[in-house]
Amino acid sequence: MRKGVPVRPEIRALRAYALVPESPVPVRAKLDFNESPFDVPDEVKRRVTSRLLARRWALYPEFGAGRLKRAIAASTGRRADEILVGNGSGEVILAALGVFAGGGGTVVLTPPTFSLYPQLAAIAGARIVEVPLSGDDFAFDEEGLLSAVRANPGAVPLLCSPNNPTGGTARPEFLRRLAASAPVLLVDQAYVDFAPEEASALPLVTECGNVVVFRTLSKAFSAAGFRIGYAVASPDVASEIGKAILPFNVDLASEELAVALLEDPLPAKARVAEIVAERGRVVEELRALGAKVAPAAGNFLFVAPPRGGAEAVRAALLGRGVLVRDLGASAPGRLRVTVGRREENDLFLAEFSRAVKEAT
Ligand code: PMP
Repeated sequence: MRKGVPVRPEIRALRAYALVPESPVPVRAKLDFNESPFDVPDEVKRRVTSRLLARRWALYPEFGAGRLKRAIAASTGRRADEILVGNGSGEVILAALGVFAGGGGTVVLTPPTFSLYPQLAAIAGARIVEVPLSGDDFAFDEEGLLSAVRANPGAVPLLCSPNNPTGGTARPEFLRRLAASAPVLLVDQAYVDFAPEEASALPLVTECGNVVVFRTLSKAFSAAGFRIGYAVASPDVASEIGKAILPFNVDLASEELAVALLEDPLPAKARVAEIVAERGRVVEELRALGAKVAPAAGNFLFVAPPRGGAEAVRAALLGRGVLVRDLGASAPGRLRVTVGRREENDLFLAEFSRAVKEAT
């Protein structure tokens, strides 16, 4: 780069975007991105396409995305003025970090957690304080988090519940205590549809007033190919975050798809139930093979192969067309495996068992 081009040091320090390793053989099971293994039903695709055909593509989407916000509000039992929509939930998380911790504020993260957070913090210009997950089950260090927010006045905790990649959830009683100690509490619930009902942080939005919950249609609703995420916050908080989001950020196609998916959520619910049942089965089978698997509330598993060798196991799986996530330095010795369809999971289990035997 030409000398003197003024890149902020925290941006320069970010690792360049890492390419996903290319599979040397045809992909047989794609279990590396926590996507849904089930596509949006054809009937919904057709309905969305015909609605889109009837719209004027030359016009911007609705200013303020009222229709989309009302659809999300209806499906979550909230009010439309509590909803913010984003081009994926990452966009709304970035806006919130910018508003509450940007320009030299502090965000509290709980590694290992979603790998995008440090990048979002750097873009927002926020400093990071880490309170690592603790113990064999990689649980939230509740007392550690409470001490961190007390020791860093103004610091904003960003918790992922269920946490990507470890799969555990934060107890609502704890979130309530943390919200009472922190100026604002950010809770990313991208995977909450796969968790027990009690894991929802939505009741805290009203109860605490300073809790912001982020959700996405990329996982349970199978809509990752379109970019639809949202935040739920009390109206005054939502309106401040909204100032950091550009107008028309959710395009016509994503809006139509989101409305169609939310007006008939039963197919998505049925698929979630299938994934949750498969999750239980795969956990048992992995444990029977001697692997350690953390308690899982998302659509993925956090797996330590028996006798180590996570990297060798991942490479062997890749060589046989089974893609799983290597967590590298953030969680050495562990793999993150998305729960797929039954036949994909069977394939993964067979290849995992073979790879473990070969690696040892
Ligand atoms: N939060 C978490 C924890 C995630 O794992 C992801 C996607 N992998 C997102 C947010 C972003 O989801 P999206 O931008 O697709 O809404």
